[in-house]
Amino acid sequence: MNRHVPSSHVLVDETRRPAPAGCADAPAAPGAGPSVRAERGQREVFCGLTGIIWMHRKIQDAFFLIVGSRTCAHLMQSAAGVMIFAEPRFATAIIDDRDLAGIADANDELDACVERLLARRPDIKMLFLVGSCPSEVIKLDLARAAQRLSAQFLPDVRVLAYSGSGIETTFTQGEDACLASLVPTLPRAEPQTKELLVVGALADVVEDQFARSFAALGIPARFLPMRKAGDLPPVGEGTRMLLAQPFLADTARALEARGATRLPAPFPLGVEGTTAWLKAAADEFGVDPALFERVTAPMIARGRAALERDRARLAGRRIFFFPDSQLEVPIARFLNRELGMELVEVGTPYLHRQHMAEELALLPDGLSIVEGQHVDRQLDRCREAAPDITVCGLGLANPLEAEGLATKWSIELLFTPIHGYDQAADLSGLFARPLVRREKLKV
Ligand code: SF4
Repeated sequence: MNRHVPSSHVLVDETRRPAPAGCADAPAAPGAGPSVRAERGQREVFCGLTGIIWMHRKIQDAFFLIVGSRTCAHLMQSAAGVMIFAEPRFATAIIDDRDLAGIADANDELDACVERLLARRPDIKMLFLVGSCPSEVIKLDLARAAQRLSAQFLPDVRVLAYSGSGIETTFTQGEDACLASLVPTLPRAEPQTKELLVVGALADVVEDQFARSFAALGIPARFLPMRKAGDLPPVGEGTRMLLAQPFLADTARALEARGATRLPAPFPLGVEGTTAWLKAAADEFGVDPALFERVTAPMIARGRAALERDRARLAGRRIFFFPDSQLEVPIARFLNRELGMELVEVGTPYLHRQHMAEELALLPDGLSIVEGQHVDRQLDRCREAAPDITVCGLGLANPLEAEGLATKWSIELLFTPIHGYDQAADLSGLFARPLVRREKLKV
């Protein structure tokens, strides 16, 4: 069963689906790290279209054309509505009832729609056709449409396609699908060119900070996504990639197929995570440890000092994560190790064992990590635990607040610059603020 709830979330009843291979319960043993348990049931997640809201800010001359229904358009308008002051960089080509009934030739209509759009907007250099549940239902082949339209509009505009459909996905997978669709277009790097590729959308301010750090360490670094459609970073056997986001499984696989090697590291969240992430690159590129120390020490000191105020507020507080963004594990590690928070349960929609290995090693023994979702059981456990703060999707936040629990929307973690040293205190502030507000309201 798959139906819309008012906030355009998708509920997927998976009670009869078997757990995928590799998701078996892992028993907790002393010294064995956190325990990972799979849960399969009703899910409560946003669809992958949501990724457009941060991706369209990142690639400045790209346009995202959702091929979807009025519901998709409504979701995107309400999620991003306030930001449209200038020419928007995403829109929805509406599939209406006629198309769904198979009467109209949707491909012709799509081509005409793209022609009109590109004639009116010469600033667009890259066009993403974004699939949705409705376009998948009518089996509209957007990959083929993208090839057809690229042949027509290249070299001025490259047309790509990916799916943002809400069936079986989490909202951050939209970014993964978008970046994976870019990988085949990346130029081939010479095998002897050893270069770092940072993969994952970062706020521009964070990207600039990291670019400065890599330059100070003498590491040649490029970023994916790039800010301009024409600046595609080359990839090849010499490419070493550092993932900046934990939800990029498909993109990483596609880059590995092009010869890139992933550098294992925790994610650059918090002072500790950022240092370990930079160190992974520094070690790979043979950076002198003394230089690494010189470059990072002032940033580490500044980051730690900035965390002190929130540490006093958050230490000993109990936090519960519902699965939503796939950022849960690295953020739980940061809150536990750098701010002294107690982790009640860490839910994550999907746990990539390899990409997450360095994070898992930093989490306390016996911690309960729950992969997947059975929302009713999770709600029961959350209510019983009565945590000080609960991280969850938008659909759960209001009911939980009404029950007296303080909540934090996990989607905010995607809209706020949270990576790197200078943002560590902004990240802790996201969790401290709801508690401070609640205490003020009590008085
Ligand atoms: S893609 Fe699917 S889940 Fe997302 S808004 Fe459109 S119909 Fe709803």
